[in-house]
Amino acid sequence: MGPGLCRDDNVKERAPMPYAAPLEEMRFVIDTVAPLDGGAADVADAVLEEAAKFAAGELDPLNQPADRIGSVLENGVVRTPPGFREAYRRYVEAGWMGLACAPEHGGQGLPVSLATAVVEMWNSACMSWALCPLLNFGAIELLQAHGSPEQQKLYLDRMVSGEWTGTMNLTEPQAGSDLGALRARAVPARDERWGEHYRISGQKIFITYGDHDLCDNIVHMVLARTPDAPPGSRGISLFLVPKFLPDAAGRPGERNDLRALRLEDKLGIHASPTCVMSYGDGEGAVGWRVGEENRGLECMFTMMNSERLLVGVQGVAIAERAYQQAREYARTRVQGQPIGVPRDAGPVPIIHHPDVRRMLLSMRAGVEAMRALTYLAAAAIDRSRSAEGKAQMSAQRRADLLIPVVKAWCTDLGVDIASMGVQVHGGMGYIEETGAAQYLRDARIAPIYEGTNGIQANDLVGRKLGRDQGEAARELFAEMRASLAELAGRAEWEPMHRGLAEGLDALERATAYLVAAEPALAAAGSAPYLALFGTVAGGWLMARLALAAQRGGEAGFATAKLATARCYAEHYLARAPGYLPAIMGGATVLGFDPELL
Ligand SMILES: Cc1cc2nc3c(=O)[nH]c(=O)nc-3n(C[C@H](O)[C@H](O)[C@H](O)COP(=O)(O)OP(=O)(O)OC[C@H]3O[C@@H](n4cnc5c(N)ncnc54)[C@H](O)[C@@H]3O)c2cc1C
Repeated sequence: MGPGLCRDDNVKERAPMPYAAPLEEMRFVIDTVAPLDGGAADVADAVLEEAAKFAAGELDPLNQPADRIGSVLENGVVRTPPGFREAYRRYVEAGWMGLACAPEHGGQGLPVSLATAVVEMWNSACMSWALCPLLNFGAIELLQAHGSPEQQKLYLDRMVSGEWTGTMNLTEPQAGSDLGALRARAVPARDERWGEHYRISGQKIFITYGDHDLCDNIVHMVLARTPDAPPGSRGISLFLVPKFLPDAAGRPGERNDLRALRLEDKLGIHASPTCVMSYGDGEGAVGWRVGEENRGLECMFTMMNSERLLVGVQGVAIAERAYQQAREYARTRVQGQPIGVPRDAGPVPIIHHPDVRRMLLSMRAGVEAMRALTYLAAAAIDRSRSAEGKAQMSAQRRADLLIPVVKAWCTDLGVDIASMGVQVHGGMGYIEETGAAQYLRDARIAPIYEGTNGIQANDLVGRKLGRDQGEAARELFAEMRASLAELAGRAEWEPMHRGLAEGLDALERATAYLVAAEPALAAAGSAPYLALFGTVAGGWLMARLALAAQRGGEAGFATAKLATARCYAEHYLARAPGYLPAIMGGATVLGFDPELL
């Protein structure tokens, strides 16, 4: 123990600070970058306030104890930690599952942008718990888009109510990023009991909530190959495989031929059961195809896109939680004297030290920029569903472009901010009691699952820039340029103006370079390009938030917004042009002999 650190005097400081949703901030971001209309605007405050109460009252108290206990596999059944089941029951009773689902299936039809704020709260409060509804939401979107009317009637309504939950079964030991390598089999069958169906067999690994005790049935969305399927990703079909086979009235009946073999022992999210699943130890699990044969990956992309947005939201959520924890700790931890104050002034809370303030402000600026980006992407998804014709296509292209950036940039930055949260605590950050270490451990999965961040970068450069030669990106950059004009000419806005102008120049240059580059060279520069994209888009949104606060906000709020935006410009945007050499340095990477690594 270092000098001056008396742990017994600091017992209060050792427990995690309670989570409080940043409601004013969330509402402001929604109003500025994802404005709601009609009924959604009327109910938004009530929804956010109720969600904040549920997150703080029901989920937050579970987070640390559940992390210690973890989920366990006992006698072939997964048991979640104490409190998870009750919280899930109350969540379902309050109707939270159907918030952004279609009214014809029992949902409330509210915009994804509003639901995104709510999902942020669940994940800040208890990410391990929140993963179950997060996956279920993706499975709901999948069945809404691709399920047959019978599948929708029997399964979808129960998933929207939360009575049953959905999972995503893609990964196999030899098929992670490359789903074309998957081997699970689906053999067509027909009998009186199940009609036309398939018998599924094979092993899936890393399946989140592949088994659990939160509800009565689990609906697995499984990728597998039919016997004559072509090799690679063109031979993959999608199947709905319930844990319990329902009768015509929807009562869960006979146990299907599938089970959780093992739970993975992980770095974080200990309470989220990550299952090795076995299908077809006997005659094969009964399943039904969703969508056309060999088009399963396309259908699964509906689920993956939904999850990618929400995993990005997890990055924001955990960073917000880490920031709140670090801020409160810094207010109470007394240590040393601030620089520039007479020596006899006595020790002060560490929040008065310039370097601690730097860390906190940098954390806060990062969180605000990420939040704005996730809500912006969610608003594009909403528009892509409500608009028609050209406007619909343009909103869809915007959403497609932003999703890999949201997923990867927000999760990478989420880890950085959670790590900075540990640093603010000093030694106590490395000790589990404060919770700061848990946020870092939990945050670390988000850049990996749902397509690693390397795969997101490939998607951004290879697919999203490649398919229209950067046109959708340039449309976005034109909007950024329009905001630059608003920043010009005022001294206090100068850092924002300069940072955004230089960042945007770099982003446009990098985009033009990558559109013309050979695919392998472009791939080698894709991750730094995604980081540049996120950094500049975040800066643009910070400027918009600060400008909006100046136009209509209360004076203290507007001052804080301007100061946070300046901090973002100095701490994040200033680095933007520095990404260029790495983006354009693909030849160095490719020219390096892997044998020498
Ligand atoms: C806790 C947890 C929960 C999960 N939940 C689920 C779930 O519910 N359902 C599910 O199906 N899966 C789930 N996964 C699996 C997860 O999606 C995969 O781990 C992830 O997609 C990466 O696959 P992999 O682990 O096989 O890594 P690999 O594919 O082996 O990748 C290893 C490294 O190589 C890189 N790489 C691989 N291919 C390329 C390429 N073409 N270009 C550039 N880089 C490449 C990757 O970016 C990575 O850095 C979960 C995983 C974990 C750890």
